[in-house]
Amino acid sequence: MARIGVLALQGDVEEHRASLRRAGAEAVAVKTREQLDDLDGLVIPGGESTAVMRLLERFGLANPIVQRVRSGMPLWGTCMGMIVVAHDVADMEQPSLDLLDVTVRRNAFGRQNESAEVDLSIPALGSKPFPAIFIRAPWIERVGQGVELLASRNGHGVMVRQDNVLGTSFHPELSGDPRIHAYFLAMVERARRLSRKRSTAA
Ligand code: GLN
Repeated sequence: MARIGVLALQGDVEEHRASLRRAGAEAVAVKTREQLDDLDGLVIPGGESTAVMRLLERFGLANPIVQRVRSGMPLWGTCMGMIVVAHDVADMEQPSLDLLDVTVRRNAFGRQNESAEVDLSIPALGSKPFPAIFIRAPWIERVGQGVELLASRNGHGVMVRQDNVLGTSFHPELSGDPRIHAYFLAMVERARRLSRKRSTAA
């Protein structure tokens, strides 16, 4: 069974853990760098990006996360999590982790749209629309080379993947539809197969 960490500095941690368990994974709350060592994948949940960026630095978690993900561990950032891993953030001073080659803008869908549930077309998941819950959500303004755009809302990117990194502007852990958690676990299984192959070839 895959062991997935959910970064638990702040934000909607328990909802992700429950969704990951329902999708068939072990899901642990991660607060220290030691806890990163035996993970097969990491989720950075929604929350407040400026606060979490500061906490990641303070707890010495930023560099270890970057190293694990650069060496192949799958990571999924939802909402604030996608902001934290973006290459750059249009309206934030603090540097982000630069694991996903996109530019995002925080709170981008506007005040009247602070929170919304939208039927989103995500062709990679099949023809049934996904009930996507947006809460003061970021949008994606620039998609780098090698980044696959998986879904858009009102002409702005809201779901992307670059190799082992997945980003969603919305909150699949709140909608009860398990398909994106299953999609992420499939990325994790693929990465585990690859690393087993590498270790038997070595
Ligand atoms: N608006 C928040 C931020 O910029 C993100 C909101 C969320 O994660 N639901 O950090």
